[in-house]
Amino acid sequence: MSDAFDVDLFVIGGGSGGVRAARIAAGHGARVMLAEEFRLGGTCVIRGCVPKKLYVLASRFAQDFEAARGFGWKPGPASFDWQRLVGAKEAEITRLEGLYAKGQQGAGVEVVKTRAVIEGPHEIRLVNDGRIIRARHILVATGGRPNIDPALPGREHVITSNEVFDLETFPRRIVIAGGGYIALEFAGIFRLLGAEVTVIYRGAEVLKNFDQDMREGLVAAYERAGIRFVLNDVFARIDRTEDGLVATTRTGLRLETDQVLMAIGRSPNIEGLGLDKAGITLAPDGAIAVDAQSRTNIPHVFAVGDVTNRVTLTPVAIREGHAVADLLFGAAKGIAPWQVDYANIPTAVFTTPEIGTVGLTEAEARKAFAVVDIYRTSFRPIRATLSGGEDRTVMKIVVDGETDRVLGVHILGEGAGEMIQLVGIPLRMGATKADFDATMAVHPTSAEELVTMRSRTARHTR
Ligand code: NDP
Repeated sequence: MSDAFDVDLFVIGGGSGGVRAARIAAGHGARVMLAEEFRLGGTCVIRGCVPKKLYVLASRFAQDFEAARGFGWKPGPASFDWQRLVGAKEAEITRLEGLYAKGQQGAGVEVVKTRAVIEGPHEIRLVNDGRIIRARHILVATGGRPNIDPALPGREHVITSNEVFDLETFPRRIVIAGGGYIALEFAGIFRLLGAEVTVIYRGAEVLKNFDQDMREGLVAAYERAGIRFVLNDVFARIDRTEDGLVATTRTGLRLETDQVLMAIGRSPNIEGLGLDKAGITLAPDGAIAVDAQSRTNIPHVFAVGDVTNRVTLTPVAIREGHAVADLLFGAAKGIAPWQVDYANIPTAVFTTPEIGTVGLTEAEARKAFAVVDIYRTSFRPIRATLSGGEDRTVMKIVVDGETDRVLGVHILGEGAGEMIQLVGIPLRMGATKADFDATMAVHPTSAEELVTMRSRTARHTR
């Protein structure tokens, strides 16, 4: 390639999308440089999915100790050490960060640990030493950052998911704002680890866009676990007192607490990036506008992952980054360009109980299809028969009543995340309810209910 450029691809951001694009592009023979200002691995590895899952697993031991009694165990008195968990988490993500660095190095990517900003259509400045790099192609993969209401009095007292993993002391009380993935996952973690948890949500019912049965089932389980919900309300102000914090809400409630966690969504991380210097345009919501190949309005500039606000999930960013690398450099290896398919993306919410979901919710299906059949079951998982737990597993299959095609599957309960990954395969393949029925059950499991729900619960016609 031409020597007018220092590199064939400059990747800004070493998160899920960026590192995948860089590694694949370098593997295709491109000269690649990747800049990361914080830690390699990005939100998911450093302060998102991975540490979150570790904390979820830590929190669930609380239930296991209790459940064990029903199976004949007499566990000794259990105590929990937050600092040990934080330390163990830190060691693990440091190990993962090292693996990412090795992966980049092994592929021949030059990783620079600095903030990088765009200075012109092909020019990128490395902030730590001022070097200007001329890049044939640029990939913006800078991810997102947590939102905090900029007008909230006392906003300096709140934390976000950036800080929550590394709190110096375990909060005895925590108030969590938001009704989405992050708010509900941390509500579960902190409650099971022993904190008093209050969730404050601006609407009437959390988890907007999720299937109604999942929403209701989770809230019921959370209320049983002692989580308090304050609905149709938001913060008016946060004040520090001698005893911690007081969050005052618009309706006048005073919530005394040790920490306030804001989990009210994330925004594309583009501030000061110099997008204007390359003439890159934004979508109305402030994300970088891209086409189906992740190309911006500037043909040699691409963007993937949360900075584009398509489907803000790690596996999606990884696919998008991979597709860009193949598009730009795959020809050398005989790889044809391809596009990410956004249909039927399975996803899990790592609450306890967990939610796994793929495809259309019942409400979405009823809007789009003339005849919708629902198969629904709710049962006590076998463990609960001896442990005495009250939580029920809920499963729902949404079917096109005219073609028998399965449109969506929703699971609330233990193992939902693991199950839904596998259910995603038949859904992509266009499986019918008859295919589910014809599959032999694995007995005794919870998952077998997915292939043994013979009786329709409801039929909705338009
Ligand atoms: P979500 O979009 O899931 O939820 C944001 C929540 O905050 C919603 O309940 C929203 O309310 C509420 N909200 C938005 N703006 C305000 C406001 N101004 N005042 C009060 N409340 C507000 O975002 P999260 O921050 O939880 O997570 C960000 C993204 O990260 C997720 O969308 C997801 O893609 C990803 N993620 C995925 C996980 C997983 O796969 N397990 C785990 C964690 C994050 P309303 O519903 O009314 O809009």
